[in-house]
Amino acid sequence: MFQSDIDIFGNRKRSVMKIETITICGGGNAAHAMIPIIRNHFSGKLNLFLPYGNEAAHFEKLIEGKRFITATIGEKKLYGRPDKVSKFAKEVCKEADLILIPLPAFAHEQTLLQIVPFLREEAIIGAIPARSGFEYAALKILKNNHKEKVKIFGMQTLPWACRIKEYAASVNILGKKKSVGMAAFPHKITPELASFLSQVLDLKIDPLPNMLTLTLANVGQIIHPGIMYGLFKGKEQITYQKETIPLFYQGVTREIAKTLKAMSDEILILTEKIESFDKNVNLDYVLGLKDWLIYSYKDSITDKSSLQSCFVANSAYQGLRAPMKKINNDYFLPDFQARYLTEDVPFGLIVIKSIAQLAEVETPVIDEIILTISQWMGKEYIRGGFLGGKDIKDTRIPQNYSMKNLEEIIIY
Ligand code: NAD
Repeated sequence: MFQSDIDIFGNRKRSVMKIETITICGGGNAAHAMIPIIRNHFSGKLNLFLPYGNEAAHFEKLIEGKRFITATIGEKKLYGRPDKVSKFAKEVCKEADLILIPLPAFAHEQTLLQIVPFLREEAIIGAIPARSGFEYAALKILKNNHKEKVKIFGMQTLPWACRIKEYAASVNILGKKKSVGMAAFPHKITPELASFLSQVLDLKIDPLPNMLTLTLANVGQIIHPGIMYGLFKGKEQITYQKETIPLFYQGVTREIAKTLKAMSDEILILTEKIESFDKNVNLDYVLGLKDWLIYSYKDSITDKSSLQSCFVANSAYQGLRAPMKKINNDYFLPDFQARYLTEDVPFGLIVIKSIAQLAEVETPVIDEIILTISQWMGKEYIRGGFLGGKDIKDTRIPQNYSMKNLEEIIIY
C-alpha cells in the first residue's frame, strides 16, 4: 500500500540527512532495544540521556562491567553501547542532531522541558511512539523557549515488542512490525527523515502526510482501553490465580471485538468529518482497526476472516496476559493503574474525544469506555458529558495547549 519511489509529497526519496550525533532519552525497554540496533547501523556518536532518579549512575556502573548491551532477535544477536551517558541534558543534548524519545507518553513533557534549553536550532526531536497529541506539547514547549526552528516527528507505534532481560546488559526483541508510520513537522522533512530513520532503525518506515494522522491512527488507544473494558467491566473485583489470568489480546471475544470495532468506527467517522471540513488535509492513512492489524501483522495472523480472529490467531500476541497486581501470594486483581490505561487514556482516547468535540462528532462508545475506565483509575476527565473533569489538566487535549478549533490542529 505504501510502497513507491515517489513520496507522498511528490518528491523522489533521498537519504542525505546530515546527522552525526544521536541522543536517546530514557533507559526503558525501548531504549535498550534501540542502543544496539542504532549502534549497528549508524557510525556517528550515540548518547544516552537518563534524568530519571539515579538511573544514569546505575546504568554507567553496570555497563562498565558488561561493556555493551546485547539484543537478542530470534537467532541473531546485536551488540552496542552509548558513547556518553548523563543525567544532565547539557552534557548529552547540546551537540545532538537527532533526539529520540522512546518513553511512555506521560514522561514526554518533563523530558522535553529538561532538554529544550540545550537544543541546537537544527536539531530534530521525536517520540517513538508519539501516542496522541505529541505535537501540541512539543511545539508549545519549543515556542515558549524560543526554539521554534527545532523540528519534530513522531512514530505511530514502537517498532518492536521488547523486554529488558538484564538492565544495561541484555534485551529481548520479541517481534518487529512489518513497517511503522512516521510523520514530522514541518512536513517537508518527512521523506528524508523517514529514509534516515529507516536506515538506522533497520526498519521499513511509511512517511505519513501529517501529525494528525498519528493521533487518529494511534491504535493503542483503541486496543488497550477497549480490551481492558471488555475483559473487566462488571468483573472488577474478581480475583485470579496465576494460571487463570485472562489472555489479553487472545482473550478478545466476539463481544469485545464488537466494542473495538465500534471505537474504531467512531474514529473513522471523525476522520471523515475532518476531511470534509478541509479537503486539503490528507488522512488516507488512518485505517480501520482490522485493516491496520492485517497490514502490520500480515505474516503472523493465520486467520484474517474477522477482527476477533486477527487478535486470537495472531502469533505476535501469543500468551500475553492482562495486566494484574498481586494481592497476596496466590491471588491477583486487574491492575487499573497499568500503562494500558494510564498512557492510552489521557494521551490517547481523551485526545480523540476532545477533537471529536471540536468537530461536533458524537462518540458514545468511546465516552462510555472513558467514563468507566476513569472511575477504575480514580480520575475524573468527563463531567456532564464534557471534558471538564478535575483531571483533564493532566491530559494532552489540544485545548490544554490553547488550541481551540480544528483549523489549529489540522495544520500540523
Ligand atoms: P519502560 O517502562 O521500559 O520505560 C521506562 C523508562 O522510562 C525508565 O527507565 C525511565 O528511563 C523512563 N521514565 C519512566 N518514567 C519517567 C518519568 N516520569 N520521567 C522521565 N523518565 C521516565 O517503557 P518501554 O517499554 O520502553 O515503552 C516505551 C514506549 O513504547 C511506551 O509508550 C510504551 O507504551 C510503548 N511500547 C512499548 C512496547 C514494548 O514492547 N516495550 C511495545 C509497544 C509500545
